[in-house]
Amino acid sequence: MENKGLLIVYTGASGVGKGTIMKMLLKRNPNLRLSVSATTRKPREGEQDGREYYFVSHERFDEMIAENGFLEHAEYVGNKYGTPKEPVFRMLDEGLDVILEIEVKGFLQVKEACPDCLTIFIAPPSFKELQLRLQGRGTESEEVIAERLRIAQEEMQHQHLFDYVVVNDDLDRAVDEVLSIIADEKKNQ
Ligand code: 5GP
Repeated sequence: MENKGLLIVYTGASGVGKGTIMKMLLKRNPNLRLSVSATTRKPREGEQDGREYYFVSHERFDEMIAENGFLEHAEYVGNKYGTPKEPVFRMLDEGLDVILEIEVKGFLQVKEACPDCLTIFIAPPSFKELQLRLQGRGTESEEVIAERLRIAQEEMQHQHLFDYVVVNDDLDRAVDEVLSIIADEKKNQ
């Protein structure tokens, strides 16, 4: 099937500011849609089912795998996360550009399934900065933060596999950079 929209994989360590950049991208690029993932993680305060994630049980998640309902799925710090396939292809077919905010194992699966996708890695200015941001956020326990930082280190070793690496040293600058990467890619699509 020839997709009309652009599929974008957007990855970065926990605490790097991906979510904040994403909100600004969606505001500034009206053709962009964020894919809502399914997860077995419990909602954080302020998160709404169907908006940040579809919050599902482990049983429901396994059913969705069995129904071949995911474009990709992976386990991350004890929970499962996956991209429901149907809405992504429907939006692409409608000519919308779809962005998947996913971790590295999911990125590798999407890259394999859709080699033409655009892949962007958001990197922190430094590892120390990442540690401070994650601790400052106060949404996770010390144990979970330590595990997220360990994974962040691993994820940063995959940066070179992405089409672009954007350093989040300054929020507005990083947003401008991602928007111009997408615009350039659309020109060449
Ligand atoms: P969080 O629990 O902080 O919302 O997300 C944890 C990690 O899971 C983040 O790196 C996030 O990008 C990733 N993630 C969110 N949704 C998906 C998904 O559908 N698939 C995969 N592979 N990773 C996801």
